Amino acid sequence: MQKQGRHNWVVLVPCPFQGHTTPMLQLGYALHSTGFSILVAHTKFNSPNSSNHPDFVFLTMPDNFSNHDGPFEIVDALNANFKAPFKECLAKFMEKQEADDRVSCIISDLVLDFPDDVAKDLNIPSVALSTGNALFALALSYVPRLHAQGLIALQDSSLQDLVPDLHPFRFKDLPLSGFAYMVKVLHNVIGSKRSVSAVVWNTMDLLEHQSLAQLQQQSQCLFFTIDPLHKIVPSGSTSLLEEESSCISWLDNQAPRSVIYVSLGSTTSLDEKALVEMAWGLANSHQPFLWVIRPGSVSGSQWIELLPENFREQVGDRGCIVKWVSQTEVLAHRAVGGFWSHCGWNSTLESICEGVPMICWPHFGDQKVTARYLSTVWGIGLELEHGAERGEIGRAVKRLLVDEEGKEMRRRAIELKEKAEVSVREGGSSFNSFNALVEHIRSF
Ligand code: UDP
Repeated sequence: MQKQGRHNWVVLVPCPFQGHTTPMLQLGYALHSTGFSILVAHTKFNSPNSSNHPDFVFLTMPDNFSNHDGPFEIVDALNANFKAPFKECLAKFMEKQEADDRVSCIISDLVLDFPDDVAKDLNIPSVALSTGNALFALALSYVPRLHAQGLIALQDSSLQDLVPDLHPFRFKDLPLSGFAYMVKVLHNVIGSKRSVSAVVWNTMDLLEHQSLAQLQQQSQCLFFTIDPLHKIVPSGSTSLLEEESSCISWLDNQAPRSVIYVSLGSTTSLDEKALVEMAWGLANSHQPFLWVIRPGSVSGSQWIELLPENFREQVGDRGCIVKWVSQTEVLAHRAVGGFWSHCGWNSTLESICEGVPMICWPHFGDQKVTARYLSTVWGIGLELEHGAERGEIGRAVKRLLVDEEGKEMRRRAIELKEKAEVSVREGGSSFNSFNALVEHIRSF
């Protein structure tokens, strides 16, 4: 890398999953555009492709993780064991720098706390990036209260009931399992467990103004709300898997707004029954579909071996099945009329930024509260009430792409897209918040 005057390094420590790495790298691009040098300290597992980001410097921390380890176990193992390796590689890196270079701050994923300890030891300021939304953090903060009131004795019959004082959530939308882990994340959010001066939120004020304000009341950290991150500065590809581009020419041949794009993100997996229901639901919808099936995501198979035998014949060229795509490019394509999603937060933001309404099939974590908001508050999503059931899927695709109801949702989604565009322009809320973050980092 060429030396051009003094370096002000910002050290990024992403959590090694697609939905976490992407916003962290995008934040890196935005900060780089203002003159910071970017160092990314990452695990070997799920490491970003450094050749896609030639302006950044990458430090690899060795590990023995594999795709068989669950995300919660990996986060726990990182927090338990990675302080020493991170400290060692950062200290070595700093030794090699020129005397007038400095590390301005460490920005680490909200779910990782080991970088804070290193920041303290090396006397470097620390900031957290929340890759998830404020809604979920707020919903989490209610869960201990519900437990204390004995309201979480969960019979199936009460899962549909509305949670008192937490409109519009039902008990089934709340994160009731993985509770200890979730509360830890909440403590991280409100800053009582982490020595960070600020939290950067990968969210939009226009979507979450109230939830952010409520959380801010509980927190001593500064909040910066900066999204759409990917619209602030264009970034190199952040995909951890190879993107297939063949689907773009397939999309080019479809009518405007006619295609349902289907993807369940980078971690959700399916059993054979769900896969088969999805397949026949898409076949019965009679609409063109672009379906991402991530290799290894269907239990008991490598890729699509468990699709029904006559399915591909039956749908012919009306369906395009791929392993992984450039999702933002797909969502921006004029042929895409709807997104059937697991409602991961990045997917949700990307869909909103392209004005694409959604079919919501949440699985775990924050996806359920997001889906509830998409359908009841923002009015741009249809929830699948019975999960993967072919009849409901076929009807939902038609409602979204053909019926008047879907057109209305698209109109609202486009309104949000336009507001998001305004927020990153000069004077917009995201623009201002980003500049305030830059000033905050410069003040260290
Ligand atoms: N994604 C992609 N190509 C695909 C499917 C997904 O690039 O074929 C990206 C998508 O753009 C998003 C991320 O993977 O940025 C998924 O993150 P999200 O928070 O939606 O869900 P998660 O994978 O964390 O469950």
